[in-house]
Amino acid sequence: MLDKDITYCKNVGSRRADILRKELGVNTAAELLEQYPFKYIDRSRFYFIHEIADEDTFVQIKGEILEFHTMGIGRAQRMSAMFSDGQSQIELVWFKGIQYLKLQTGVPYLLFGKPSRFNRTYNFVHPELTPLDKVTPQMVTGLEPHYNTTERMKNSGINSKAMRTIIAGLMPDVDRGLPETLQADIIQRYHLMNRTEAIHQIHFPNDTPSMQKARERLKFEELFYNQLSILSRASARRRHTEGFIISVVGRHFNYFYKNLLPFELTNAQKRVIKEIHADMKSGKQMNRLLQGDVGSGKTLVALLCALLVIDNGYQACIMAPTEILANQHLATLRQLLQGSDVRVELLTGSTTKKQRAELLPALQRGEINLLIGTHALIEDTVQFGNIGLVIVDEQHRFGVAQRAKLWAKNSRPPHVLVMTATPIPRTLAMTVYGDLQVSVIDELPPGRKPIQTYHYSNLRRKSINEFIIKQVGLGRQIYVVYPLIQENEELDLADLENGYNKLVETFPQFRISMVHGKMRAADKDLQMQRFVSGETQILVATTVIEVGVNVPNASVMIIEDAQRFGLSQLHQLRGRVGRGADQSYCLLLTPPQMSAETRKRMDIMVATNDGFRIAEADLQIRGMGDLEGTAQSGDPVNFKIASLATDGQILQLAREAANSVLDDDPTLSTGYTQVYRDGLARLNPEQKLGYREIS
Ligand code: ADP
Ligand code: MG
Repeated sequence: MLDKDITYCKNVGSRRADILRKELGVNTAAELLEQYPFKYIDRSRFYFIHEIADEDTFVQIKGEILEFHTMGIGRAQRMSAMFSDGQSQIELVWFKGIQYLKLQTGVPYLLFGKPSRFNRTYNFVHPELTPLDKVTPQMVTGLEPHYNTTERMKNSGINSKAMRTIIAGLMPDVDRGLPETLQADIIQRYHLMNRTEAIHQIHFPNDTPSMQKARERLKFEELFYNQLSILSRASARRRHTEGFIISVVGRHFNYFYKNLLPFELTNAQKRVIKEIHADMKSGKQMNRLLQGDVGSGKTLVALLCALLVIDNGYQACIMAPTEILANQHLATLRQLLQGSDVRVELLTGSTTKKQRAELLPALQRGEINLLIGTHALIEDTVQFGNIGLVIVDEQHRFGVAQRAKLWAKNSRPPHVLVMTATPIPRTLAMTVYGDLQVSVIDELPPGRKPIQTYHYSNLRRKSINEFIIKQVGLGRQIYVVYPLIQENEELDLADLENGYNKLVETFPQFRISMVHGKMRAADKDLQMQRFVSGETQILVATTVIEVGVNVPNASVMIIEDAQRFGLSQLHQLRGRVGRGADQSYCLLLTPPQMSAETRKRMDIMVATNDGFRIAEADLQIRGMGDLEGTAQSGDPVNFKIASLATDGQILQLAREAANSVLDDDPTLSTGYTQVYRDGLARLNPEQKLGYREIS
């Protein structure tokens, strides 16, 4: 019954069907039923006029109209009426459709609407008035569903109320029973409502608890299928792809560990290296996410893993998000490896043709052990002799499609390690990165002092400048960061240059570098280098320094227009300091006037250095967009009802349920799991992968 075309649903017809198809993308009755209400209005309560207290709550009042007034003529015509509940009076106003109103004085009505505030009193604009004897019990019991509609739908008369009528027309079909999409054991184990009841109750709930149970069940179902898809694909890949076996702990690793390692590894570093090694010698291809807050020492872990792979006769590469970072990795690693015969080279967009002509053949002959670079590494022209491990630094949204390109770099796919300092909320770890195994470095190297963070009005230049003078006087270096967003790059660069000029003017005694994305790579490097070497005391920059840059003597981070950064981005930036033994500081500057949201974000930054708490807060405040502070990508999955920001608990249960199904039947091949195969077949690509691919 529910496969039928919406044209043939009650109250639809071909004209409305066209609009519904275009605007909502629904074709069948079943799809119409998945247009869930976005809110409910409690119609079980009756109000008195004097109880109206705000503009946001719908109310219903019993009463009668005392008198009408009509003003103006033609299109400017306007009508008002005085409505009384027997105790007090309120004004009703109409601007449109006055000729259709058939209202009378002295007749009892049920008024329903949302009050508006007008000067210091309330009135109702275009309220719904139903003669009391026409009010059906259904109208005033329980929760009334409200549906999302588009402008075009409204213009064609399909408002929320019309949607309600259309969906109500499907309820007899629903009540005859819908196919169940979850097996009875799961429904029982997780105390879920059955599908038929859930679909009925989400649209026309008996009461609030039933509505909540219905929503819970449908969220569970949606997340369950998402997890089943992700987990079954990951397990299929593990079953089908053999990985290079990295079993030997050999010469390069041991020499480095005994003679070159500059400090004792933290316990967390040791643990994740063990996890990664165990994974790489299992015979299966590794796809692992390494999470560790800024400064937790991921680079060293990357190097040790690369050495393991090199010891087993394979090559390794590290891919960084920017040239600055690739250069820095090269410098750091070459320095760490001094005295070892591991050959490390660099390949970026700035590598000249001539250099490439030398580099690429050597790479193919397997003479280069460790290649460091940017996205240039993915190009097809970059061919390794025998790549065994690809490390992706600070690009945690590196999706399956991108990883798949790396898998093709050898006859068997190399092991892949994605490293990120962006703490990933649990819900994202289970969806967007749901096919990755996860290792966490949950410990910073010893001797770090927590960074002190302050939020200042950007008008307090005098105190800020005094602070700068004092810190530079102590021999410290300072970052000053300006926001840069694609949309108004020009303006932002002007801000940056302005800021730079002001600093130069204010501090003639200091040397100041400036870097931004629009500079030539060579200039950028030069400026960076001057700061890294300590020649300049202040570095004025855009967010190009956000990831990975490591200057231990820099102990002050000043962020201009901090309100324009996302929380995770602020945390990343702050992580550039606090790397040496000195007390570090972060100053967040905003205009004195700010939104409540900005205030909240600044308060969190001041209150905690814990990246996880910040990431969770970010998710709550901003929703799923902009988690990385990069382009607005919106929610990574367009779930119909579930939300990664709020449904972490249900997601956890859904994942557990999906895992138990796969434990019993990894290939979903028994008759029992037919229902799940069917369910997976209905998913769209995004729901299957758990996220949209970025390109
Ligand atoms: P991130 O995890 O942010 O990439 P890095 O790898 O850049 O961090 O490390 C930050 C700093 O900590 C570097 O200066 C590095 O040399 C230092 N470091 C790494 N591991 C240790 C350790 N076990 N003990 C002391 N310092 C360490
Ligand atoms: Mg790093």
